[in-house]
Amino acid sequence: MPGLFENAVKQFEKATRFFKVSDDAKKTLENPKQIIEVSIPVRMDNGKLEIFKGYRVHYNDILGPTKGGIRYHPNVDMDEVKTLAFWMTFKCAVVGIPFGGAKGGVIVNPKKLSKQELERLSRGYIRGIYEFIGPDIDIPAPDVYTNETIMGWMADEYSRISRKLTPAVITGKPVSLGGSKGRDDATARGAYYIIREYAKKHNLDEKKLRVAVQGFGNAGYHIARLLHDDGYKIVALSDSKGGIYTKTGSLHPDSILKVKQEKGMIDGVYCRGTVCDDIEHEDVTNEQLLELDVDILIPAALENQITEKNADRIKAKLIVELANGPTTIEADEILFKKGVTIIPDILANAGGVSVSYFEWVQNRAGYYWELETVQERLKKLMVMAFEEVLKAREEHKTSFRTAAYIYASKKLVAAIEAKGTEEFFRRG
Ligand code: GLU
Repeated sequence: MPGLFENAVKQFEKATRFFKVSDDAKKTLENPKQIIEVSIPVRMDNGKLEIFKGYRVHYNDILGPTKGGIRYHPNVDMDEVKTLAFWMTFKCAVVGIPFGGAKGGVIVNPKKLSKQELERLSRGYIRGIYEFIGPDIDIPAPDVYTNETIMGWMADEYSRISRKLTPAVITGKPVSLGGSKGRDDATARGAYYIIREYAKKHNLDEKKLRVAVQGFGNAGYHIARLLHDDGYKIVALSDSKGGIYTKTGSLHPDSILKVKQEKGMIDGVYCRGTVCDDIEHEDVTNEQLLELDVDILIPAALENQITEKNADRIKAKLIVELANGPTTIEADEILFKKGVTIIPDILANAGGVSVSYFEWVQNRAGYYWELETVQERLKKLMVMAFEEVLKAREEHKTSFRTAAYIYASKKLVAAIEAKGTEEFFRRG
């Protein structure tokens, strides 16, 4: 069976059928530039030494230094990190920011570590990949189960080793340590701008749209909040332990976050101040959530959630991929034939890396922007990318995903070919 990476590359290969691509460019984009694997020794609180495994992949840097998050998860492996780095390459090209693609990962369940252990692990990872990163080489950021605190430790560790304050080496830092305003909800906000554009273009009555969100991390919580504040009906939410569904009402993301922070799980509540009431809901599994009768389905957790096994049962007409790679290539085809529209990950969740780019620019310039400026510029980038992908979709009569790959690939291919192809060198 082809692995995650081989399937991801097929998304690019599909796009290359729509325009002329040299063999040189194709080969280049089918292979990662370089990969590092490190062992990270961590002294645990009980005195024992544990060795964690970490990876960093630079996929392609033709459009700029490589960029991408760091994931902490027990299921991280090299194939996954490589695939995520591949997606970052096309994601940055879709929104037109001057970065290539990278990704990092550490095999760890961070929920089992104390805060002190987590800090030692994060600093240890940076010591391991120190030579591999830098503001002009590769710039990490948060991803699944990493956050701004961790980015702050990592930037600090890098600065200590280099003996130079280097905030631009990592994005997604706390604002107090040189992070950008608006980076916290940027991934969700980017998708939110696209959903609103989509609704406008299709004359949808936003107040009637029923939304299910899988995942309640940074992306899932913020998209639920933003849409809820605009009157969309959030009918289902979940985290890694399971979810809730309300047939009649709309879930209140802030109340649910508050309770999740207290109890460690999602519950159907509506809170005013300290008083929380139950709202009518039923429990659903993560699998059931995907198949609910909703207008918009937003997978905001991990890869491979919508597969050939459940694609036929998906009822949503619109899927917005806030997670990376939630839909397998087989499911993608089934859904396309069913007439389901998918706004693909490399477009839908590009808001995060876009504001990461703004953070890097601000760090290098030493000139910091107001929140309104960040959001205005993010909106402009997202809407422009959406329009361009729409154009490619209409021109080639294909899915949003293939259109996004065509649009991104053309930029990558042009840059690779500008250095000369076989044809150029053969002609002498
Ligand atoms: N981890 C995020 C992503 O998958 C953000 C990466 C970044 O900001 O560099 O897009």
